[in-house]
Amino acid sequence: MARYTGASCRLCRREGQKLFLKGDRCYSSKCAMEKRSYAPGQHGQDRRGKTSEYGLQLREKQKAKRFYGLQETQFRNYFDKASKKKGVTGENLLIMLETRLDNAVFRMGFASSRKEARQLVRHGHFTVNGAKQNIPSFTVAAGDVIKVKEKSTSSPKFKEIKELAITTPSWISVDVEKLEGKILALPRREDIDTPVAEHLIVELYSK
Ligand code: SF4
Repeated sequence: MARYTGASCRLCRREGQKLFLKGDRCYSSKCAMEKRSYAPGQHGQDRRGKTSEYGLQLREKQKAKRFYGLQETQFRNYFDKASKKKGVTGENLLIMLETRLDNAVFRMGFASSRKEARQLVRHGHFTVNGAKQNIPSFTVAAGDVIKVKEKSTSSPKFKEIKELAITTPSWISVDVEKLEGKILALPRREDIDTPVAEHLIVELYSK
């Protein structure tokens, strides 16, 4: 299936929740969810009634998929891998999604959205443990050091980052001056603030 290239804000409106897909705009009054928080389309404002159990599960899956910017097949593959791992499948799934390189770059504050992080990774702006890494789905591990490539540090984008106050989750540390971040440990479920009820996704795929 092709990657979604439509308006990002429609996806937030569809899910009835901010998915933070457009960087700084998401935190401003220009955010579409501030003005039109109903579903898109002609009947977006008319939707009433109780959503079925299946509907809730489906929406939760769509939301998680959209948060991390994945296609259906990619998301399903993560779920299949998560279900084969030891532990709780839903938690395994979220941890696997969080430890994608593009997500780690976003969490480090080196990009304003996961979409931008993916683009920066693809364009080869980062190294992992000193080696160039341009695959957004690359899985980072505890102890990995992610650094902006020497050649890229002079670009306005990364110069700007040095001026920002960056807040990171507890499993990541960042040295803004050096433009590098370290994975201190794998995230636990309680470290992940993505507002997703993962048990609904497990229920959906377990049918
Ligand atoms: Fe979603 Fe960001 Fe668009 Fe707001 S501005 S609707 S949070 S993508």
